Amino acid sequence: ITVFAGKKVAVFGLGKSGLLSAGALIKGGADVVVYDDNEKSANEARAAGLDVRNLAEIDWSEISALVLAPGVPLTHPTPHWTVQRAHKHNVEIIGDIELFCRERDKVRAEQGIECPVIAITGTNGKSTTTALTTHLVAAAGHDAQMGGNIGVPVLALEPFAPGRVYVLEVSSYQIDLSPSLRATVGILTNVTEDHLDRHGTMENYAAIKALLPARVEAGGTAVIGVDDRWTRDAAARIERAGRKVVRVSVVGPLRDGYYAEGTRIVGAVAGKAHPVVQLAGIGSLRGAHNAQNAACAVAACVALGIDLPTIQKGLVSFPGLAHRMQQVGRKKTASGGILYVNDSKATNADSAAKALGSFNDIYWIAGGKPKTGGIVSLAEFFPRIRKAYLIGEAARDFAQTLDGQVPYEIAGVMSAAIDAATRDAEAAGLKEPVVLLSPACASFDQYPNFEVRGKAFVDLVLAVPGVEQI
Ligand code: ADP
Repeated sequence: ITVFAGKKVAVFGLGKSGLLSAGALIKGGADVVVYDDNEKSANEARAAGLDVRNLAEIDWSEISALVLAPGVPLTHPTPHWTVQRAHKHNVEIIGDIELFCRERDKVRAEQGIECPVIAITGTNGKSTTTALTTHLVAAAGHDAQMGGNIGVPVLALEPFAPGRVYVLEVSSYQIDLSPSLRATVGILTNVTEDHLDRHGTMENYAAIKALLPARVEAGGTAVIGVDDRWTRDAAARIERAGRKVVRVSVVGPLRDGYYAEGTRIVGAVAGKAHPVVQLAGIGSLRGAHNAQNAACAVAACVALGIDLPTIQKGLVSFPGLAHRMQQVGRKKTASGGILYVNDSKATNADSAAKALGSFNDIYWIAGGKPKTGGIVSLAEFFPRIRKAYLIGEAARDFAQTLDGQVPYEIAGVMSAAIDAATRDAEAAGLKEPVVLLSPACASFDQYPNFEVRGKAFVDLVLAVPGVEQI
């Protein structure tokens, strides 16, 4: 990162992305001071040769920019009021994606290297859309680099080179810290109530999200899922401002854009519709919410010039994201086969609803550390559930909700739940029963996080006699 060469930059927060930012800035000729209120991180940084300083004691008038790690809240009184100090001295506050974007602009202006950026935001479906878009772009033969909020810091990606395509998941917080982000394709999947703790009002939250598609580069495309009023308004506004907008819907036909019709995605131009791709049989993209993600990814690929047969082929080979309705294995039975699905990421009822709505004949493993509201809101899906296997702290509460409506047993732990569900699914003689882990709970009572919970499920399933990995 050479855009701060010869300047002084402060980096606050020394996780993976903060350390990478500091390293890249130093390599590019900047004078960097760093800080973290976690003493262990600060000591490690010091040992690695970084200039660790108490940011309350530096001369802020010398600082050109404050780079904040993702996760450092803007409004929170950080130990030394770092953010407030930066504001007071008119020091710009940015994130690692901003460093990436400025470097991209510089490399383009000075060396003529063009690297398309597909940036993705939205309340839900960000990771799925990001992973799917990356997969489709790679399947079309491009060098696709995936990063951002999805877990790989942007500065860990391969450097800019002709034709390299970057697919970035961007949280609303990162949008705030990336004023130079000008995507080639900017995707906004949807906006619903979430994260209001950080952004105050819904208006404010929706406005921040809408900045990403609004700021696509000249000649770029804004892809917007228009199934909620926030994104519908944003699409109209962005179009009025002269940007190319491609609308996506999974609730009804559009005059222009891409919409789901059953398992097909249809494209429409001035009211003329034509089928574009088929999602039937693609296990990793089940459900209306995934049709929304897929339609957004398809629209982005079309904007990049990828042809439809290539996109269709890419869709079929999409493996899906780990822990999000991930098809893990199949066990042949006399009547058909049991499908095992890991949806450990579903840490609340809303998220579990997506999985429960995507299958029939469900043997449901649920429970963990309970969230307020429990599973009362899931009643409309109860007819799809053959039996529930309850684990963790929430078991008794869930049992009360299910009582008289869905058969259940208190399995306690994952292994007992999988064994019992396998036994019952096999005995029922159904064609394709599904053993589904979609806990509607946090994992912290039995596991460190949802990834470890999902991994435990996968390992146990693959150890069930007769299960073949998918
Ligand atoms: P994010 O990265 O925005 O958190 P993910 O793609 O990781 O989203 O999906 C997380 C969960 O959110 C999924 O398991 C699914 O239940 C739900 N989900 C995914 N896509 C959508 C969508 N387009 N609309 C609503 N819910 C979705």
